[in-house]
Amino acid sequence: MEDAEVFTYAVIGGGIAGVTCAEHLYILDPEARTVVITASGLIKAVTNVLPITKTLDMFDVEERLPEQLENECPNITVVKEPVTRLNAGDQIIYTTSGRKFSYKKLCICSGGTPKLISNNHPSVLGIRDTESAQQFQERLGKAQRILIVGNGGIATEMVYEVTGVDIIWAVKDKHTSATFIDPGAAEFFKPELGKDKIESNQPLKRRKYTVDGSQTQYGHIGGALGPDWHSGLRLSSDLKRKVTIEYQVEVKNIFSHEELINSGKSCCKLKEEPLDSIWPVYVELSNNKIYGCDFIVSATGVVPNISVFQDGNNLRLGSDGGLRINESMETSLSNVYAAGDVCSPSWEPAQHWFQMRLWTQARHMGSYAAKCMYSSLANEEIYMDFAFELFSHATKFFGYKVIILGLFNGQKLEGKYEILLRFTPGLEYIKCVMADGKMQGAILIGETDLEETFENLILNQMDLSQYGEDLLNPDIDIEDYFD
Ligand code: FAD
Repeated sequence: MEDAEVFTYAVIGGGIAGVTCAEHLYILDPEARTVVITASGLIKAVTNVLPITKTLDMFDVEERLPEQLENECPNITVVKEPVTRLNAGDQIIYTTSGRKFSYKKLCICSGGTPKLISNNHPSVLGIRDTESAQQFQERLGKAQRILIVGNGGIATEMVYEVTGVDIIWAVKDKHTSATFIDPGAAEFFKPELGKDKIESNQPLKRRKYTVDGSQTQYGHIGGALGPDWHSGLRLSSDLKRKVTIEYQVEVKNIFSHEELINSGKSCCKLKEEPLDSIWPVYVELSNNKIYGCDFIVSATGVVPNISVFQDGNNLRLGSDGGLRINESMETSLSNVYAAGDVCSPSWEPAQHWFQMRLWTQARHMGSYAAKCMYSSLANEEIYMDFAFELFSHATKFFGYKVIILGLFNGQKLEGKYEILLRFTPGLEYIKCVMADGKMQGAILIGETDLEETFENLILNQMDLSQYGEDLLNPDIDIEDYFD
């Protein structure tokens, strides 16, 4: 312990969870010394917060120099070095250069790394941080065709943003974007795939990606990109979308051209493709179709970054490999908390909340973890944050505002629910999930202005049976009814 640098609080990770946690520790306990240890040279900051509902904010995510955090919160020290080991028994953190840090309370916010369909294949690319986004941009500049595997937010946004190249989109479900929306909403978006992209006139928040030395030196442990990750990409001036979707498939094999010839199998040709075309890589899907492409983007979720903390520590993990945390954000190690993509909540969640690895939740967890750490030292009682009462997420797909609330796909309801739907092609898609006459969840696409009313209806579980289908009648102003 002698040569360790002494801090009251330590936070590992300079992503949204870690930075939010450190900022809140500074607000709660400004005299206490906090160290933020991060493998990335730039940290993430949440700015321009605009509350939309009680549980939902819109905000920007900016990359900043660590010095800015130190200037704004003078009792915070940022150390730009990867952590190599944690001795939780003696409460010491070790970094690559041999520095040691002691703490009273530690919060691990080390995020995750992309779960790739193949870890070492040179043609398989994951997108997580600034460096991988830059690699993607470089390879895209020389590509004619890419294959995207995944059906979540990143894959959906990529299909929307990337134009001028052929895209094969391989999804494992019966419909696209299944992580966030239902088959009906996927139908709502389908016509957009055939349309040319509309150039945004809005100024870009981040014109191009920068990669600092520390990121390349230490490999892929930069912070996850924010919601505007694609605004840093210089994409094609050809605004045509050329998307071929393969539903209910997984990747079976990846071949080089030579391996394909030796296998005796033949590949699918897209319209106008020369019969003798040769591609850098070929992908065999589980429906036995084989496509050639320049490279493969694997957008299939993340694996929590926990390996450096496991050595010598009896860490309990959740079924998804994240650090198991209780309702006070504590891991199985004494005085060690966790927040953001790295953790797996193990408490009995509120009826309308569940974990999804998103920046909104990284922020809520970072802030709540800080309260838990502080109140444990100060011996104060703490109650579960209101943010964990309702799952809520705001995003944009194909240029449309998308708000998802509660059990938006009937999660946890075991099929015992009804759906109310209002659907105007090209304008709006409103879906309510109802059980026993009460609203359980909703998907709102377009400028519906219903998010606040629906959030209230889900939270207060008002009996709406008397309204029946009129709940979504466009001639009735339901906001007036329930506000
Ligand atoms: P991260 O941001 O991953 O931060 C982890 C930090 O830990 C980094 O600073 C890293 O350097 C550090 N670290 C890791 N290992 C070590 C170590 N050994 N030592 C020291 N430091 C370490 N979410 C949304 O809600 N909306 C979106 O539109 C959206 N789009 C996304 C687009 C992309 C391309 C990606 C990749 C993610 C997107 N997400 C989106 C998800 C969202 O970005 C993450 O859920 C969120 O940022 C997680 O924050 P975090 O702080 O937990 O982890």
